[in-house]
Amino acid sequence: MITNYLTDAKHFWLYHTGICENILGPGKRLIVYSSGCPLSCPDCIERELQDLHRGKKWRTDDFISAISPILNSVDGITFSGGEPFYQAAALRHILRELSPQVQTLVFSGYDLDSLIAGFPDILNYIDILISGAYIKEQSGDFLWRGSENQEISSPNKSIPAPMLKKWMQSPSAGISMHLSDGNTFIYGIPAKGTLDALQHKLKDKQLELIC
Ligand code: SF4
Repeated sequence: MITNYLTDAKHFWLYHTGICENILGPGKRLIVYSSGCPLSCPDCIERELQDLHRGKKWRTDDFISAISPILNSVDGITFSGGEPFYQAAALRHILRELSPQVQTLVFSGYDLDSLIAGFPDILNYIDILISGAYIKEQSGDFLWRGSENQEISSPNKSIPAPMLKKWMQSPSAGISMHLSDGNTFIYGIPAKGTLDALQHKLKDKQLELIC
């Protein structure tokens, strides 16, 4: 049972937004990284985002107003983190405002059964859900999934089952590096070994990748 989550719908803690194509969901998407995660996956690759205060506190309605113009030029919106469901009340509010005008995708470290039991109302607003903890021993080359245990589903049933099956059987869409305000952001779920290979290439050029 999920008990550790925020009930403040009026505020949303945001770490970063960006745009990428196919890397974190189908088509061109606005990617929203929320901060805060109560889970402690041993192999977490987003440790800094476990801290809610790494993000900036927005009024939820201001955040919706800020991203609304962008949504006209993308195919969908993806929520990652951190753990988007940690800010359950704000997530519910945002998704209720945006769905169904834009396709919604949410990543979560919780498994599907826990989310169905804990947040059935929020799931109604989600077209695509990538659920389950990242387990390093089960990592591989998977589309939008870091490890084999993670599951792609369509909680509101807007995505046909054959499409979900095809995505579950597809390889990683790779990663994309973006420079913004002097920081480098890596979007995407790399296939096993990709980050190590990148580390080596950067080392050759006397650069270092810090995750
Ligand atoms: S759910 Fe994601 S952000 Fe949270 S600890 Fe697990 S891997 Fe890290």
